Amino acid sequence: MADSNWYPSSWKSRSAAQMVDYPDQQHLQRVLTKINALPPLVTPAEIERLRFQITAVQRNEAFLLHAGDCAESFDACTQQNISAKIGLILSFSLILIWGGRLPVVRIGRIAGQYAKPRSSGTETIDNREVLSFRGDNVNGLDPNDRTPDPERLLSAYFHSTATLNYVRGLLTSGFASLHHPRDWSLSHVRSPALRSEFEKITRGLSDALDFSHTIGADSGRESAPFDRGGGRGVLGEIDFYTSHEGLMLDWEQAMTREVNIAGSGRSGPSPQQKGFYNTSAHFIWVGDRTRQLDGAHIEYFRGIRNPIGIKVGPSLESAELIRLLQIVNPNKESGRVTLITRYGAGKIGDHLPGHIEAVKHSQHPVAWVCDPMHGNTLTSNSGFKTRNFGTIISELTSCISIHAACGSRLGGVSLEFTGELNDEGFSVTECLGGSMELSEEQLGLRYQSFCDPRLNFEQSLDVAFLISNYFKE
Ligand code: PEP
Ligand code: MN
Repeated sequence: MADSNWYPSSWKSRSAAQMVDYPDQQHLQRVLTKINALPPLVTPAEIERLRFQITAVQRNEAFLLHAGDCAESFDACTQQNISAKIGLILSFSLILIWGGRLPVVRIGRIAGQYAKPRSSGTETIDNREVLSFRGDNVNGLDPNDRTPDPERLLSAYFHSTATLNYVRGLLTSGFASLHHPRDWSLSHVRSPALRSEFEKITRGLSDALDFSHTIGADSGRESAPFDRGGGRGVLGEIDFYTSHEGLMLDWEQAMTREVNIAGSGRSGPSPQQKGFYNTSAHFIWVGDRTRQLDGAHIEYFRGIRNPIGIKVGPSLESAELIRLLQIVNPNKESGRVTLITRYGAGKIGDHLPGHIEAVKHSQHPVAWVCDPMHGNTLTSNSGFKTRNFGTIISELTSCISIHAACGSRLGGVSLEFTGELNDEGFSVTECLGGSMELSEEQLGLRYQSFCDPRLNFEQSLDVAFLISNYFKE
């Protein structure tokens, strides 16, 4: 795929937004050399399988769920947090499958989602100007620990490895079994309506599974478009994929390996072809702040085989969007590009129809995913960075109907949510509203995000039911 002008470090000749300034370059190089020698976190075969599944999303034969924390932290890498996150993603996808009768492609913002872009390089804390916190793989949240430290990249590698190892373990030992959905579901949900709605689905599913078993039709795990290669899913008995924002190009480059393209040369006389894979995640996306046409990030992204996401905000002109698609996918390969739109509820109507029209005209295959979070962030009167459930739903429902009106179809959703609970089993309180009617006064009770506010367990299920009901209609 990559042309001869591309190589894993070719981005270095371009200007890069959001770059981290390391005071000790030699130290950085030593760490990057070490990372480059460490084993890959994910495999080319897994990455190709995801490309294949995103092709199904592009054909409206599957729905994509992209979800997790705004940013992971090293301290939150615990058994409890990881299983809560996977449990929520599974619950969410089960509701979607039930409503849509479509397979769901699950991509977690997990096992490497550490780095964050910032609107300013510095901030003032207690009358002191300090470097901004850039994520656990760069510097510390503590204002006294803001100098970028290359060792944190190595620590990110091992925390990602530990996370992924635990996820693989969970998913290969029955955690995701649809026969026992209660293992990962709603024991703590207090709303009787939500519980009974979800239990209705799991009962229905259990009956359906028992029936399939009785008639001997349950040998396949997933439905037809997902059967390529057969066997087990990626990371266990279901398919589950990892992702992060491809922000720290030094890291992405160090994790990039040139290997045979998985599946190439298998049938017929054609020789094996080589390609470059980013082996730190199955899917990486380019953020709304780093997608400059001639910038370093787009240069890096254009050369890898992985399926990629592009965040599309209100400042992106249609012509620029098409140029972006031409650069990252010149041969219009399917399964390669996902557009993650994030305009804000008040702006989506002004921008999405034009973007859909332009992409249609260009004949570029894309999966359209709605991120109703990042255009809808506000500061509460009490000073919390928050989002309103009603506004999130408003962007999501507008997105669904605009796609329908333009003869297109929404292919997925990208959310920041968490199944994290405190010791007493209570969910976080970071977004306002939802069926639990979380109020401004309650935000301070369990506000745990150090980055963007996340939907909690109950609010996430509210969103899942909304999408699921839309599919049923
Ligand atoms: C994010 O997904 O956390 C993010 C920073 O998004 P965006 O680039 O769309 O602002
Ligand atoms: Mn975010």
